[in-house]
Amino acid sequence: MDVGMTIGGRVTLGAATLPVENPARAEEFARAPAASPQEVDRAVADAVAAFPGWSALSFAERAQLLRDCGTLLHRHVDELARLLTLEQGKPLADARGEAALAADWFGHTAALSLPREDLVDEPGAQVSMERLPHGVVAAVAPSNFPLILAVTKVAPALLAGNTVVLKPSEVTPLASLRMTELLGEVLPAGVCNSVCGGPAIGAALTEHPEIGLVSFTGSVPAGRAIARSAAEGFKRVVLELGGNDACIVLPGADVTALAPRIFAAAMVNNGQFCAAIKRIYVPAPDAARLTSALADLAAAARLGDGLLTGTEYGPLVSRAQLDRATALVAQARTAGARILPGARTPDLPGHFLTPTVVTDLPRGTRLEAEEQFAPVLPVFAYDTVEEAVARANGTEFGLGGSVWGDEEHAVSVATGLDCGTVWINTHGALRAEAPFGGRRSSGMGTEYGYWGLLEYTRIKVCNIARP
Ligand code: NAD
Repeated sequence: MDVGMTIGGRVTLGAATLPVENPARAEEFARAPAASPQEVDRAVADAVAAFPGWSALSFAERAQLLRDCGTLLHRHVDELARLLTLEQGKPLADARGEAALAADWFGHTAALSLPREDLVDEPGAQVSMERLPHGVVAAVAPSNFPLILAVTKVAPALLAGNTVVLKPSEVTPLASLRMTELLGEVLPAGVCNSVCGGPAIGAALTEHPEIGLVSFTGSVPAGRAIARSAAEGFKRVVLELGGNDACIVLPGADVTALAPRIFAAAMVNNGQFCAAIKRIYVPAPDAARLTSALADLAAAARLGDGLLTGTEYGPLVSRAQLDRATALVAQARTAGARILPGARTPDLPGHFLTPTVVTDLPRGTRLEAEEQFAPVLPVFAYDTVEEAVARANGTEFGLGGSVWGDEEHAVSVATGLDCGTVWINTHGALRAEAPFGGRRSSGMGTEYGYWGLLEYTRIKVCNIARP
């Protein structure tokens, strides 16, 4: 499988390669190109060269090209989905959903508009404002939803008139690199480039002086490193970082009926979803019933290779991710927690961990404070709703949170949650129309919809005097 980097309209396999593992088998199944710092420079230079032509197109012309990108990607959903399953581990049906959503996202984005705004229109003066592109956008994507989280950057950046250099995660590069190859059939040379490599290549790209904006999705430490380096040149950054979303179940809620919905919202992509439920707070009298219903669901989960029919949950994306999750469970067990139905690494060759419910955790465990990013779900019993809200807000994160139960009560409790999105009787539902972003260590800036598009623009004001 020869998937290359797209640099200046040409697909290049690069001088060096890096291994790409199938996490369901824990073995290398392909090699991806490994960019050199010189190739990063070339990709940025080609994006700089393509910028005047691309930004000079009308908004409508760029929107039409984005629609064409979406149409083309729809024809390749099966191919992209297979690559996603092989490199990320998710079941093929989920991978198809992600690839189709990525194709659709070009259309959703193309439907947005950025009209010039008239701010003052008086006899003596006219002031208007337009939104212009930054120049070259560095788009750095994570390993959990490689394709859609690349497209949610690439599509609005291009629509606003920027050119792009995309760096997918070195763990899951293939579907994204293949996508940029395909986009090259529609877009002019140099408009959407890709480079591949790990954190050092990510840093070479994001620290490049010709980059106008860095749009990053990934972990808190990497986001912090990018923000630090961006400060040097006052580079604009959008950082979508980790989450540790709490779900508060209200007194009076039917926990047995809610359990399957809460379980599903926690186990999305095996818990490897920034806005998955990562902690549950439930009234003490209901805790045993909810925990036991969740444990039954965990015990029934069907794990396996994502390419096989019937698989509900694939492996974790890497050995490092699995090791981290098992260490969190071990620490909880040592602290006296009960592990239900018993975290197991099943007898499969890959990085598998069975869905696991953790209860009776004392305060101050890592599983409450940190993001597990794995199918490990801690359940905490609370005495008062105020206590639940305080604990929900008591971590460094502020991405999302949800409240479940009577709608009116839930809406009023949700006003106390200090995060970017609150959900009522659902969790993690993201939409192309609604902005999404976090507070505190969960990041800065916004993605999706009109508000996400604005991040890819700078304001220019025109002030006309009419004496
Ligand atoms: P990661 O930080 O390990 O890697 C993400 C990307 O950053 C990769 O492409 C990597 O090569 C690159 N990178 C790493 N260090 C870098 C540096 N110093 N400079 C530039 N680039 C660098 O994250 P991951 O494991 O792929 O993703 C999981 C994390 O992403 C979780 O914390 C998750 O919550 C978060 N995430 C957040 C959102 C959101 O919208 N808030 C969405 C998805 C994932």
